[in-house]
Order: sequence, then C-alpha cells, then structure tokens
Amino acid sequence: MSNPAPFSEGWAAGWMPDPLLTVSQWADQHRKLGSKSSAEPGDWRTDRAPYAREPMDSLSVTDPTEVVVLMWGAQTSKTETGNNWIGYVAHHAPGPMMAVQPTVDMAKRLSKQRLSDMIEQTPALKERIAEARSRDSGNTLLSKEFPGGVLVLAGANSAGGLRSMPARYLFLDEVDAYPLDVDDEGDPVSLAIKRTTTFGRRRKVLITSTPTVKDVSRIEKEFERSDKRRFFVACPHCGHRQWLRWRGYNDDASDPRAREYRLVWLDEGKTAAGYKCEADDCGALIEEHHKTKMLLGGQWQPTAVGDSKTRGYQLSSLYSPLGWKSWVEILSEFEACAGDPAQLKVFVNTILAETWEDASTVRLDAEGLAARAGGYNVGEVPAGGVVLTAGVDLQRRNGGYAQIIVRAWGEGDESWLVDRKIIHGDQTQPDLWRQVLAALDQDYPTANGGTLRVYAAAVDSGDGETTHQVYAFARNNRARHILATKGMSTAGKALLGKPTKQDINIRKQTIKRGVDLWPIGSDTGKALVHARLRLGAEAGPGVMHWPLGLDSDYWKQLTSERQVVKLVNGFPKRVWVKKDSDYNEDLDCEVLALAALEYVKTRHNRATLYQQMAARLAADRSDAVESDADAVDEAPPPSPVAGRFNLSGWRRSA
Ligand SMILES: [Zn+2]
Repeated sequence: MSNPAPFSEGWAAGWMPDPLLTVSQWADQHRKLGSKSSAEPGDWRTDRAPYAREPMDSLSVTDPTEVVVLMWGAQTSKTETGNNWIGYVAHHAPGPMMAVQPTVDMAKRLSKQRLSDMIEQTPALKERIAEARSRDSGNTLLSKEFPGGVLVLAGANSAGGLRSMPARYLFLDEVDAYPLDVDDEGDPVSLAIKRTTTFGRRRKVLITSTPTVKDVSRIEKEFERSDKRRFFVACPHCGHRQWLRWRGYNDDASDPRAREYRLVWLDEGKTAAGYKCEADDCGALIEEHHKTKMLLGGQWQPTAVGDSKTRGYQLSSLYSPLGWKSWVEILSEFEACAGDPAQLKVFVNTILAETWEDASTVRLDAEGLAARAGGYNVGEVPAGGVVLTAGVDLQRRNGGYAQIIVRAWGEGDESWLVDRKIIHGDQTQPDLWRQVLAALDQDYPTANGGTLRVYAAAVDSGDGETTHQVYAFARNNRARHILATKGMSTAGKALLGKPTKQDINIRKQTIKRGVDLWPIGSDTGKALVHARLRLGAEAGPGVMHWPLGLDSDYWKQLTSERQVVKLVNGFPKRVWVKKDSDYNEDLDCEVLALAALEYVKTRHNRATLYQQMAARLAADRSDAVESDADAVDEAPPPSPVAGRFNLSGWRRSA
C-alpha cells in the first residue's frame, strides 16, 4: 500500500482492530441482518450475492478506487452493499462520513429503520454507536458519532445539510431521485462531492441508483465516465463467459439477432423461464437453478477505459439470487407491461437497470433534418413567404454574442428560414446593438423580385445586466416592433402572453417611458417547433423549410432539447432537457421568431393576415407603402405601447 495515512486516525485512537479486512470480509465477520429490514435475517453472507463483493471491496481503504458507481436493478442488495460500507467505516476505518438520501425525510427514515436495525443487530456497531435516546450520546437521527468519526445523514433537497462538514466518505444513494438544483446552490451531487476534496485521493465516494430517463439520468452520467464493469458468468452447458442481457447477443446492434429476447418460457404454463446462452455453437437454455453456481463463479470485467479513478458496475435484476427476484417474475412483469409505455419505463429502469428512451422523447435527428434543406439559399425569401419575423438570443459566453434567426411565414404558418447570424460583441457596448439593429433592418430579396424586411423581432431579455440592455434596445426601437421578452417554462403558458410594463432602469430609477416585457411560453413554443419538425418535408401548413448553406451548428442546436418525463414532487411531469454540452440558442431563436409572428397576428386580422401580406407584396406600390397603412385590415393593437402602426416591417424595393 502506497499511502499509510488512511489508518492514522484509527491508530491514534489506539483501538483499531485488524486494518486489513476489506468491506466484504468485515460484513461476513460482523454484519448481522435483522428481521425488521431483511427477509433473510442472521449473518450477512457475501456469497449470497457474490457480485456485491468486488464493489464493496473497492470501498475498502486498502483499495485505490476513489469513486464507485452502482447502477443496479431491484432486489440485488444495492442498499445493503452501502450499509455494509457504513458499518465498516464506523467499526474499522473511522472518519467523517456523509450519507445522502433524496430528501431529508428519507434520510430520517433510513436512520430510523435500516440503520438503527443494523446497529442494533451488529454487536461491533452497537458498542461503538450510542443510542440516540441517551441525552449525551452525541447521536441524533441525522448524526451518529463513533470513536474516530461521525456519520451525518443529509437530504439532497437541503443545501445546508450537504455543506455541513468535510467528508472523507460520501455515500450518495438513489441519485436519480435528487432535485436538479438545491436551494438555488446548484447540483446537490456536485455540492456534496465538493466536501470530499480536502481528502484528496484518500476520499471514497459511493454513488448508487436505479436509472431513469436517458441523457438526464445522473447515475448513467456517472456510469458513462467509469470503466463500465459487467458481471460475466459462465454458461453451465458450454462454459462460455457472458454478461446477462435482456435483448441482443452482443454489442453489435446490426446483428440480426439484436432484437431477440434472451429470456424465454420453458413451459406453456409459464412456471419456468430459461436464459439462452449467447455462444453461437451452444444456444442452450440456462435454468434458474443454475444461477447460484453461476454467480459464485462470476467476475466483473471492465468494458471501457474510464477515467481510472471511477469503477462503474451495472447489474440488472436478471442477476438477482435464487429466492429473490426470479426470471419467471421478471418475464411475467415484462408481459404485463405490453402496450403501456409508462409501466415499461418502470420495468426498464428498475429491473433492467437501464435508462429509458421512448419514441416521443427521442432526440430529433440533426442529420435527417439537415438533409431536407435546399431549394433556395440563405438570404432569399422563397415564393410563399410573405412576412418576416426574427428571434434574437443573447449570450455572454465566449466574449458575448447575439444570435439571430429570420424566418419567412406564409399561408398556414408554413415557414422558411431566411437568415441566421451570429454577431460577436459586448452587450454593454452600443456597437453590438447597432449591428443587431442593422441586421434586423436588412432587405431580403423575394421570389417575385421585391424585398422584405423583418416586421417584428422578439429578443430574449435573459437575466442580470443583459435584461436592461434589452429593455433599452426595445425602448429605443419600439417603432421597429422590437419586443423585449421573457421565457416562462411553466407548462401550458400561452406562446405570447400579456405584456407588463417595466419602468425601472439598472440603477433602480423609475424612467419616463417604460418598456413592455412580453412573457413567452417557452415550453409551448418548443413543443410546437418540435411537432412541426416532425411534419416532414412536403409543402403544407406548419411545415418548416431551410435554405442551403446553413452552418452545421444550427442543426445541432435545433435538436439539442427534447421532452422527458420527470417526477416533480412525486408526480410525473414532462420537461425539456438538453445535454450539458449542448447549446440550444437556435431552438430558442425559433421559439422567439414564432412568438414574434404571434405578435404580428395580434396586430392584424388573424384569418386574413397572409392574404393581406401577399397582396401587398404582389402590388407594385413601393413608394406608397407608408401612406397605405390605413388600407390594411388591422385589428386593434393589444397594448398601449404598440402605438402607431408602422410598416417598416415590409417594403417593396424601388
Ligand atoms: Zn452455452
């Protein structure tokens, strides 16, 4: 062992027993299971769940692994594996330890039930951890002192608990149930892991969960950076070593057998199930009674390189030991989910220990969409496009920039992307805003030889300092129908809501002419854009078109988000998510351009908007445009600030 430091606390305390035991050896020697928390009370036997041995031993202080990730299915002893580690630390390698549950209530429940049962049943722990009842025991529900260390229980929904102390040992349980953000302090997992940094390479972190939705699942993310270990077992018939999978024969998705299920009924009465060996020259059925021997001879093998300090273990309930979750139960449960995606998701997550991805949440294929572009070039308005709107999104990263898209709209809201620009510059400087205005004032050639200019533009007001810059921009250009907007992610919000007056400037002074702030239903807009992206390429209502020559980033950003089902306060809710690494400004810009169109519609007769605009475009009245404003069939403006109707939005070239 290269680093003798881990034992210094224990030796200093002068009572440390044999320090060379591993976690599994400790559990086999000391751990007792009580009847309150276990169906099989008595001595813990690692041989009962042999796959738990290596992950537990990776948590021993004698092992160099820093982070252990368990993405395991139901009834595989995932929780007890963590509890054994708690017992080992308290008895054998004391130090500051934090165990995090999804909520404070769950942490209390863990303490009251499983932990108190473990302490009560296991003499080595009982003599070290005083009962919470005695007044000066140093122990409460959420804090257990023992010689040389302390165990603090915290909930991922409370930042205070996560920040409470530096921890050499950190146990993050069921991380997929953690909130995305805790008390506005960010990701609870990062917050807790920060507490371990002072211990450097002596720290140990255990992260466990059944997974949830693909790309949002925390445990999947942790597993992805690990060496992705699978538990290989030998076929009792041919000896071929393989890991048990639900479908497919190998990692080759193009193999014609990739969609075949591996678990099959062995009789018509469905009382027995067998597992088909993957070996080409075997294919024999492995029966449930073979499991015990198979598991004992099993071995974890890395299937990826990983980051060298994280060991990841994935294990489905197919490995659940004989007498726990049977293959018969698993196959019956699978059949019961037929046709019910919600139930199937639970099955995939909790039994297969895999993330879930359903058809409606599938990320749109950027390349497939990109292949549909064409028929015109960037900067041209194709036939059918009669009114232009723009969406403007501002970003502070990379030195600051404004991203603009311009979309042409026609009958039935069929639309054509006309332009996409990225203007680099500092939002606090007038120069950036001059360039944005110039971009919005550009004349675009139309198919019939005229030109069109952006009628209305929606600008995201973002947050912080940007907000006031956007307000000022909108206020100074209200005649150009530049709207300051604010995205609302609450489900079911109108695409464009009623504006509210903002009349406080950045120095908190009231200003004379306030600016309207328009709320935008971001979720509503994204859902509409996505539904339209799925319409296909044939011309028709709602169909979106794109020109040749768009930057490939556009397609990536457009498809960066998708909807997933998440539990919010215990209720499933659809939310938009994106991968950490992805930018999504183009999708935001498309939503903003859509909202700007909605604004245009409030200023005209909705039913005849496109006819009016088409008639104007067709008419050769370039120099009479301004004075002709009255001839337009106009609806009353939606708010006082809309002011005088201004036709700078479109113009026929001379
Ligand atoms: Zn075989």
